[in-house]
Amino acid sequence: MASPDNRLRISWYKWWRLMRQLRLRGAGIRESGAFLLGSRTVTCGWVTDFVFYDDIDPYALAQGHVHLAGAALNRVWDRCSATGLEVIADVHTHPGSSGQSLSDQNHPMIAIRGHTALIVPNFASSVLNLRGIGIYRHLGARKWISLPSPRAGLRGLKL
Ligand SMILES: [Zn+2]
Repeated sequence: MASPDNRLRISWYKWWRLMRQLRLRGAGIRESGAFLLGSRTVTCGWVTDFVFYDDIDPYALAQGHVHLAGAALNRVWDRCSATGLEVIADVHTHPGSSGQSLSDQNHPMIAIRGHTALIVPNFASSVLNLRGIGIYRHLGARKWISLPSPRAGLRGLKL
Protein backbone atom coordinates (compact mmCIF):
# COMPACT_ATOMS: atom_id res chain seq x y z
CA MET A 1 0.00 0.00 0.00
CA ALA A 2 1.12 3.56 -0.56
CA SER A 3 3.57 4.83 2.02
CA PRO A 4 4.95 8.39 2.04
CA ASP A 5 7.98 7.04 0.16
CA ASN A 6 5.86 5.69 -2.66
CA ARG A 7 5.66 8.84 -4.70
CA LEU A 8 3.53 9.16 -7.79
CA ARG A 9 5.08 10.06 -11.11
CA ILE A 10 3.82 11.94 -14.11
CA SER A 11 5.55 12.85 -17.34
CA TRP A 12 6.24 16.51 -18.08
CA TYR A 13 3.90 16.40 -21.05
CA LYS A 14 1.00 15.03 -19.02
CA TRP A 15 1.70 17.51 -16.24
CA TRP A 16 1.66 20.40 -18.70
CA ARG A 17 -1.62 19.17 -20.20
CA LEU A 18 -3.17 18.71 -16.76
CA MET A 19 -2.23 22.19 -15.56
CA ARG A 20 -3.42 23.75 -18.80
CA GLN A 21 -6.81 22.05 -18.58
CA LEU A 22 -7.27 22.97 -14.91
CA ARG A 23 -6.41 26.58 -15.72
CA LEU A 24 -8.79 26.75 -18.71
CA ARG A 25 -11.69 25.04 -16.96
CA GLY A 26 -11.38 27.29 -13.91
CA ALA A 27 -11.02 30.38 -16.12
CA GLY A 28 -9.26 32.21 -13.31
CA ILE A 29 -12.49 32.59 -11.34
CA ARG A 30 -13.38 29.19 -9.91
CA GLU A 31 -11.77 25.99 -8.71
CA SER A 32 -11.44 23.05 -11.06
CA GLY A 33 -10.28 19.50 -10.51
CA ALA A 34 -9.67 16.01 -11.81
CA PHE A 35 -9.08 12.44 -10.82
CA LEU A 36 -5.65 11.14 -11.79
CA LEU A 37 -5.73 7.60 -13.15
CA GLY A 38 -2.80 5.32 -13.60
CA SER A 39 -1.23 2.08 -12.57
CA ARG A 40 0.75 1.26 -9.49
CA THR A 41 3.83 -0.82 -9.01
CA VAL A 42 5.27 -1.80 -5.65
CA THR A 43 7.40 1.33 -5.51
CA CYS A 44 5.45 4.00 -7.36
CA GLY A 45 2.42 4.87 -9.45
CA TRP A 46 2.47 6.41 -12.91
CA VAL A 47 -0.29 8.88 -13.74
CA THR A 48 -1.34 8.32 -17.34
CA ASP A 49 -4.93 9.54 -17.62
CA PHE A 50 -7.25 12.20 -16.17
CA VAL A 51 -10.97 12.53 -15.59
CA PHE A 52 -11.95 16.16 -15.14
CA TYR A 53 -14.75 16.83 -12.68
CA ASP A 54 -16.76 19.00 -15.05
CA ASP A 55 -16.72 16.21 -17.66
CA ILE A 56 -18.51 13.81 -15.32
CA ASP A 57 -20.71 16.34 -13.51
CA PRO A 58 -21.80 19.50 -15.37
CA TYR A 59 -22.34 21.32 -12.06
CA ALA A 60 -19.04 20.29 -10.47
CA LEU A 61 -17.53 23.78 -10.73
CA ALA A 62 -20.72 25.82 -10.42
CA GLN A 63 -20.32 26.70 -6.75
CA GLY A 64 -16.84 28.14 -7.12
CA HIS A 65 -15.31 25.29 -5.16
CA VAL A 66 -15.27 21.75 -6.56
CA HIS A 67 -18.19 19.54 -5.64
CA LEU A 68 -19.13 16.23 -7.24
CA ALA A 69 -22.51 14.58 -7.29
CA GLY A 70 -22.28 11.03 -5.94
CA ALA A 71 -23.47 9.50 -9.20
CA ALA A 72 -20.58 11.12 -11.07
CA LEU A 73 -18.20 8.70 -9.37
CA ASN A 74 -19.76 5.84 -11.33
CA ARG A 75 -18.42 7.37 -14.50
CA VAL A 76 -14.93 7.30 -13.03
CA TRP A 77 -15.25 3.63 -12.12
CA ASP A 78 -16.53 2.96 -15.66
CA ARG A 79 -13.45 4.61 -17.10
CA CYS A 80 -11.24 2.55 -14.78
CA SER A 81 -12.83 -0.73 -15.79
CA ALA A 82 -12.65 0.21 -19.48
CA THR A 83 -8.97 1.14 -19.29
CA GLY A 84 -7.69 -1.19 -16.56
CA LEU A 85 -6.38 1.83 -14.67
CA GLU A 86 -7.14 2.87 -11.11
CA VAL A 87 -7.68 6.22 -9.45
CA ILE A 88 -4.39 6.99 -7.76
CA ALA A 89 -4.86 10.63 -6.84
CA ASP A 90 -7.03 13.68 -7.25
CA VAL A 91 -6.14 17.29 -7.89
CA HIS A 92 -7.99 20.56 -7.53
CA THR A 93 -7.08 24.21 -7.69
CA HIS A 94 -7.42 26.93 -5.09
CA PRO A 95 -7.70 30.67 -5.65
CA GLY A 96 -4.84 31.35 -3.22
CA SER A 97 -2.49 29.03 -1.40
CA SER A 98 -2.45 25.25 -1.52
CA GLY A 99 -3.30 24.52 2.11
CA GLN A 100 -6.12 22.06 2.73
CA SER A 101 -9.41 23.61 3.76
CA LEU A 102 -11.46 22.04 6.52
CA SER A 103 -13.78 20.74 3.82
CA ASP A 104 -10.83 19.21 1.91
CA GLN A 105 -9.79 17.38 5.07
CA ASN A 106 -13.25 16.23 6.05
CA HIS A 107 -14.48 15.21 2.61
CA PRO A 108 -11.77 13.30 0.72
CA MET A 109 -12.74 12.73 -2.91
CA ILE A 110 -11.78 9.08 -2.45
CA ALA A 111 -11.92 8.16 1.21
CA ILE A 112 -9.38 5.37 1.18
CA ARG A 113 -6.13 5.10 3.05
CA GLY A 114 -3.12 5.97 0.95
CA HIS A 115 -5.04 8.17 -1.47
CA THR A 116 -3.13 11.28 -2.57
CA ALA A 117 -4.74 14.71 -2.97
CA LEU A 118 -2.93 17.52 -4.78
CA ILE A 119 -3.81 21.18 -4.45
CA VAL A 120 -2.58 23.64 -7.05
CA PRO A 121 -2.51 27.32 -5.97
CA ASN A 122 -3.64 30.41 -7.91
CA PHE A 123 -6.07 28.52 -10.15
CA ALA A 124 -3.11 26.72 -11.79
CA SER A 125 -1.94 29.95 -13.39
CA SER A 126 1.67 28.73 -13.45
CA VAL A 127 2.88 25.33 -14.68
CA LEU A 128 6.27 25.94 -13.13
CA ASN A 129 5.29 26.85 -9.58
CA LEU A 130 6.12 23.40 -8.24
CA ARG A 131 6.97 24.61 -4.77
CA GLY A 132 3.54 26.07 -4.31
CA ILE A 133 1.80 22.73 -4.84
CA GLY A 134 0.36 20.94 -1.84
CA ILE A 135 0.51 17.14 -1.67
CA TYR A 136 -1.50 15.34 0.98
CA ARG A 137 -1.69 11.65 1.75
CA HIS A 138 -4.83 10.34 3.40
CA LEU A 139 -4.13 8.17 6.42
CA GLY A 140 -7.78 7.25 6.89
CA ALA A 141 -10.38 8.66 9.28
CA ARG A 142 -9.90 12.18 7.87
CA LYS A 143 -6.28 12.32 8.96
CA TRP A 144 -3.70 13.51 6.45
CA ILE A 145 0.00 14.01 6.19
CA SER A 146 1.58 16.69 4.08
CA LEU A 147 4.28 15.48 1.68
CA PRO A 148 7.14 17.57 0.25
CA SER A 149 6.53 19.55 -2.97
CA PRO A 150 6.89 17.76 -6.31
CA ARG A 151 10.42 16.99 -7.38
CA ALA A 152 11.51 17.62 -10.93
CA GLY A 153 13.29 14.82 -12.75
CA LEU A 154 14.37 14.11 -16.30
CA ARG A 155 11.41 11.90 -17.14
CA GLY A 156 8.86 13.90 -15.25
CA LEU A 157 7.67 14.88 -11.82
CA LYS A 158 7.61 12.95 -8.59
CA LEU A 159 4.48 13.88 -6.70
ZN1 LIG B 1 -9.70 22.69 -1.58
